[in-house]
Amino acid sequence: MKVAVIGAGYAGMAAAVTLADHGIPVTVLEAARLPGGRARRVEAHGFALDNGLHILIGAYRETLRLIERIHPAGKRALMRLPLDWVIHRQFRLRSAALPAPWHLVVGLLQAQGISFTERLGALRFVLRMRSARFGLAGDLTVDELLDRFDQSARVRRVLWHPLCVAALNTPPRRASARVFLRVLRDTLGAGHDQCDLILARTDLSALFPEPAASYVAARGGSVRTGCRVTAIDRCDGGFSVAAEGRQDVFTHVVCALPAHQVNAFLIGISALAEVVEIVERLTYQPIYSVYLGYPRSVRLTAPMLGFDSALVHWAFDREALCGQAGVIGAVISAEGPHQQLAQDELAREVHEELQRHLGPLPAPSWTQVIAEKRATFSCTPGLARPPQRTPLRNFLLAGDYTESDYPATLEAAVRSGINAANIVLGKA
Ligand SMILES: Cc1cc2nc3c(=O)[nH]c(=O)nc-3n(C[C@H](O)[C@H](O)[C@H](O)COP(=O)(O)OP(=O)(O)OC[C@H]3O[C@@H](n4cnc5c(N)ncnc54)[C@H](O)[C@@H]3O)c2cc1C
Repeated sequence: MKVAVIGAGYAGMAAAVTLADHGIPVTVLEAARLPGGRARRVEAHGFALDNGLHILIGAYRETLRLIERIHPAGKRALMRLPLDWVIHRQFRLRSAALPAPWHLVVGLLQAQGISFTERLGALRFVLRMRSARFGLAGDLTVDELLDRFDQSARVRRVLWHPLCVAALNTPPRRASARVFLRVLRDTLGAGHDQCDLILARTDLSALFPEPAASYVAARGGSVRTGCRVTAIDRCDGGFSVAAEGRQDVFTHVVCALPAHQVNAFLIGISALAEVVEIVERLTYQPIYSVYLGYPRSVRLTAPMLGFDSALVHWAFDREALCGQAGVIGAVISAEGPHQQLAQDELAREVHEELQRHLGPLPAPSWTQVIAEKRATFSCTPGLARPPQRTPLRNFLLAGDYTESDYPATLEAAVRSGINAANIVLGKA
């Protein structure tokens, strides 16, 4: 068995680690200089920033398992915070340290910033969904689902909408209720530690993809970064993969490329015509990450803070996370008018927005805007996603856009990589 994994994002590296665990000396080919893909380190202004500020949750079973196993610091690489959903000066929901569903019943009944009737309404919605095992007969949008359960404008604004955008990166008027409910099932509907918010204490390449690359190398595999694959063709013995003027033959390929790039490779393979069609139908949503370099004394009141704002959804205190004093990172998820702004205008607006919420701040000495125009696919009702097993034998797909219970997240990516590897191993 000679296996190529193409792409060293979280999906590709999860596949590579799983194969390495079973003694397969896998070859990972990655176009970028360092592994991590959309969750990678970006060096700027003397700091190791991230391509995107990421939130993990306690329900990310496989991602957490792999990080804790592979990272030299184990669990200490992550900061685990019991659910404390704070929309600055507007709303607070804390999960109680009680068995499910009491952690949520008590948490919602004690939520601050919404009326008692609204608290009861939100609770009734979750309990009704729980008794239906968070399933739906057909799919609809998140807003349509919230209409059915008479959720008030205020509860939507401070709880359901931010939760939907954070999890699905799709506006609630377009987002899939079925996928949203699966996220609720595995977080608010599960044990209290499943809704923990988990933040990385290092940059996202160092969190998993880099230690995973060392792990694979130590087991006879290799991770070739700066190595762009230019063609994948069927040949005697399997697949011929062309990269950097070299052509190698592999018995199996795990293709872990992003959705918007994968079709360029699949289009010439007739057996994959159906997959190509499914991928072609995907549309995408942006995420903007805006970093501001303030004097060292500037801090937030929590490592992560939500805002009831049309622009900034979340802000992160990088000092609390990874010791980057004065660095505040702001996240703007999904589509919106901010996409029309030039980067320096956007950074200025984010600074002004932070001042409106937090009070006067000194001017930042530097700003860095990272715009990921195709951060995730739009997670809309009834969306088809291709399975990891394709009609072409020994050619597997991995990536956050492939079939999963989860929206486009690290966990969807990691689970897809593990499943693709298990198919190669004949275990799935
Ligand atoms: C800004 C931002 C914020 C996000 N926030 C969160 C969050 O808070 N929580 C969460 O769970 N998820 C979040 N996500 C989503 C998460 O990052 C992705 O779901 C996940 O990283 C996808 O991993 P992947 O391995 O499927 O794809 P990718 O990370 O895209 O990996 C694909 C790899 O293929 C490589 N590649 C491309 N072309 C070639 C080629 N020709 N040859 C070789 N290699 C190639 C790429 O360089 C890349 O490394 C966020 C994403 C973004 C962009």
